[in-house]
Amino acid sequence: MSEKIPYKIYLTEDEIPTKWYNVRADMKNKPAPLINPGTGKPLTLEDLAPIFCEDLNKQELDNDTQYFEIPEEIQKFYKMYRPSPLVRAYFLEKALGTPAKIYYKFEGNNTSGSHKLNSAIAQAYYAKKQGLKGVTTETGAGQWGTALSMACSYFDLDCRVYMVKCSYEQKPFRREVMRTYGANVTPSPSMTTEVGKKILAEFPNTTGSLGCAISEAVEAAVTSEGYRYVLGSVLNQVLLHQTIIGLETQTALKKYNIKPDMIIGCAGGGSNLGGLVSPFIGEMLRGEAKYQVIAVEPASCPSFTRGKYAYDFCDTGMICPLAKMYTLGSQFMPSANHAGGLRFHGMSPILSQLYHDGYMEARAVEQTAVFEAATQFARVEGILPAPESSHAIRVAIDEALKCKETGEEKTIVFGLTGTGYFDLVAYEQFNSKTMTDTIPTDEQLAESFAKLPKVNL
Ligand SMILES: *Cc1c(COP(=O)(O)O)cnc(C)c1O
Repeated sequence: MSEKIPYKIYLTEDEIPTKWYNVRADMKNKPAPLINPGTGKPLTLEDLAPIFCEDLNKQELDNDTQYFEIPEEIQKFYKMYRPSPLVRAYFLEKALGTPAKIYYKFEGNNTSGSHKLNSAIAQAYYAKKQGLKGVTTETGAGQWGTALSMACSYFDLDCRVYMVKCSYEQKPFRREVMRTYGANVTPSPSMTTEVGKKILAEFPNTTGSLGCAISEAVEAAVTSEGYRYVLGSVLNQVLLHQTIIGLETQTALKKYNIKPDMIIGCAGGGSNLGGLVSPFIGEMLRGEAKYQVIAVEPASCPSFTRGKYAYDFCDTGMICPLAKMYTLGSQFMPSANHAGGLRFHGMSPILSQLYHDGYMEARAVEQTAVFEAATQFARVEGILPAPESSHAIRVAIDEALKCKETGEEKTIVFGLTGTGYFDLVAYEQFNSKTMTDTIPTDEQLAESFAKLPKVNL
């Protein structure tokens, strides 16, 4: 390497991508279509219209358009907090004593504290364009709800958030950020929806789950005039918007002629991972390059590594469309002592297909090991990472340590999706050594798989 690589590789405003990349256009095996649970047939635009925004539905079903122009309004908003830096982790490399070169793309430089704003602003834009009054959504750890609140307040849209109850209680400050941006926040499950009442009747002590909050938010949208439902992960449209991360990363790497060997991201519903890796996997799909792509998930919610590739509901209430994905079953609830986010039972259908076709591998890591990595990272790189992001840090460190043994100078890029300022309850558990690892047993998973819907296409 002739040039010295700076600590932070920034792009100029003019270098921020103006298009999103749709990896489906380059996939030979397209992700399986969403199924209407009522008819058992692939979802059509008409089926989706009462639930989601019009333009977003077109993006959802479009397997062919390779690039989507980013509307000017969204490009402008992006300039408020983008480009995000690609950081060379010199301090971490030194601390590890590794010959590996480590880079991370940091998405935590906005008030919502994560990459979720990239899609929130797009979804709010299309809702406004359609003339809607507002949107409903769920939020787990709270990042998506915060991002959506910011986006809705920018476009003067009403925003109703169903927040997973344990997060609502554990993260009161997150809730106040949302309310500051004008959102209406309800702990889920709640008595404000039919599905919420039903779930509470069956499981009165539940602390909630993402799948359950999704059911409530969808019900609230379809029963309120001028409202639609928006989702912060899993969907094809969300991965599309998040490709801004990977496209910026690609441009930044090209500036210095850096070719990554390995790209690592944490995987909840798959949006940051898909956004980061899609442009690189696109190169692989077109036969232009080869990368090792690694998805990292919690051992307590291991959809890639222990899930089934099958049609399943996206929500616990079983009212949402069916998606073919790696899933633990829509009735699966991760252990309540799991603190680190990434609690969704399924996985993006796009990433599921890519994983199934061998373009990606996956690792499951336990949360105490994740927080060890988070702490090590915070102490040398300065940033207090989100627990979700720290799953990627864990594997990046493990891979860098392998390089130390073999002497290989691999280039590792990982996604640092956000900051951990609202996750201090989890950090407290780790620091006071009360954090434990709970991994579902094969019996528990089998019980959940037994409830998968039967789909005959
Ligand atoms: C939501 C979130 C994730 C996980 O969601 P994906 O859709 O899998 O990206 C990861 N990191 C942070 C900081 C998040 O807020």
